[in-house]
Amino acid sequence: QRRVVVVGAGMAGVQTAVALREQGFTGPVTLIGAEPHQPYDRPPLSKAVLLGKAEDSAFDVDFEDLGVALRLGVDVTGLRAADREVDTEAGPVPYDVLVVATGAHPVTLPGSEGVPGVHLLRTLDDAVRLGPVLERRHAVVVVGAGWIGAEFATAALGAGCAVTVVEAADLPLAGTLPAEVAAPMAEWYGANGAELLTRARVDAVEPGRVRLAGGRELPAEAVVVGIGARPATDWLAGSGIALDPSGAVTADDRLRTSLPDVYAVGDCASYPSARYGERLLVHHWDNALQGPRAVAAAITGADPGPYDPVPYFWSEQFGRFVQYAGHHAGADELLWRGDPADEAWSVLWLRAGVPVALLAVGRPRDLAQGRKLIEAAVPVDPVRAADPSVPLKAA
Ligand code: FAD
Repeated sequence: QRRVVVVGAGMAGVQTAVALREQGFTGPVTLIGAEPHQPYDRPPLSKAVLLGKAEDSAFDVDFEDLGVALRLGVDVTGLRAADREVDTEAGPVPYDVLVVATGAHPVTLPGSEGVPGVHLLRTLDDAVRLGPVLERRHAVVVVGAGWIGAEFATAALGAGCAVTVVEAADLPLAGTLPAEVAAPMAEWYGANGAELLTRARVDAVEPGRVRLAGGRELPAEAVVVGIGARPATDWLAGSGIALDPSGAVTADDRLRTSLPDVYAVGDCASYPSARYGERLLVHHWDNALQGPRAVAAAITGADPGPYDPVPYFWSEQFGRFVQYAGHHAGADELLWRGDPADEAWSVLWLRAGVPVALLAVGRPRDLAQGRKLIEAAVPVDPVRAADPSVPLKAA
């Protein structure tokens, strides 16, 4: 029986172990994770856990029952593929098949590391440390108006904190969404009581305050930095595994890496998407659910075909349920369904008349219908597709 070792006990690592058993793999499976906690889910960290509505978000998985050897609090420091071993502080661990699922680390704000009161939001420990900030209704400065910044701001406002969000770009989610779509979302900040400062650069973070370029000072009992995440692949340096410039492991369309019998999945890996004609690095939960099923299928020898799902994610911010499916980079047409000044609206991106992506705000039905159209890659009638009173369907 081949021994499978999975490095990283987040969503992707845990789901790999689960999928292996679901798909009938009976050999030994070892799951190694750096964090000391029982493996847990991250999305609730910026939502229910942060607000104290849930104590933790541990996965409902009985590892013993699954016959998965769980090694927690163990940092994997290197990979020696020629020896088929990974290194840990506690010694080497041999494998026959290795799955790299080490996720991503949040990007820190230069100069803010180690300053008291500065937080990131990636781990359960981060969320637990932020609990008292919300409980005591501290004045907070959020650096970065991305998905994490918006969700943290929402939770902090809900707790009664004064919230200022500092964003270097012109708009929130710049780089992710086009300006015309991000502009109405920028309005959500002020309408919910947060101050959004765009084109604002942090010059220095000091205990109790944030100084912006230009001299403005913002009082800050706490600072939350949400400026992105990078694949956690430093430990693979020198292993010979191929990484792309972002640091992601470059997997192929079966999530195999450049090394024999080594797979990579979740936030740490990019893969070639034939659907979108480019390599994708997806930092969302659904990819950490679906990718592992493809990896398990490859390991057990049941080839399900190329891994190329329609990417999907959701976000809960400022009282709204935001969902996105697809990838709009190659789109040539954008259709609005509804008025962005209203509570609920959607945007559909087309390429040559075929839906490639959809953003739905408070319109889950649009998302469900749109996702199917994107999967099927069938053209829509643009006039009907732009009518929010008509269900989204093929022309
Ligand atoms: P991770 O969850 O990062 O897990 C990787 C694990 O590997 C970590 O526990 C890490 O400690 C461990 N590890 C790293 N290096 C090593 C090493 N060298 N040795 C041993 N272990 C190691 N997505 C959505 O679609 N919707 C949401 O609403 C949403 N909300 C989110 C909220 C927050 C606060 C965060 C942080 C993320 C959110 N996401 C959301 C993204 C989603 O959680 C991630 O895409 C998902 O967790 C990726 O899973 P992963 O297993 O690839 O990586």
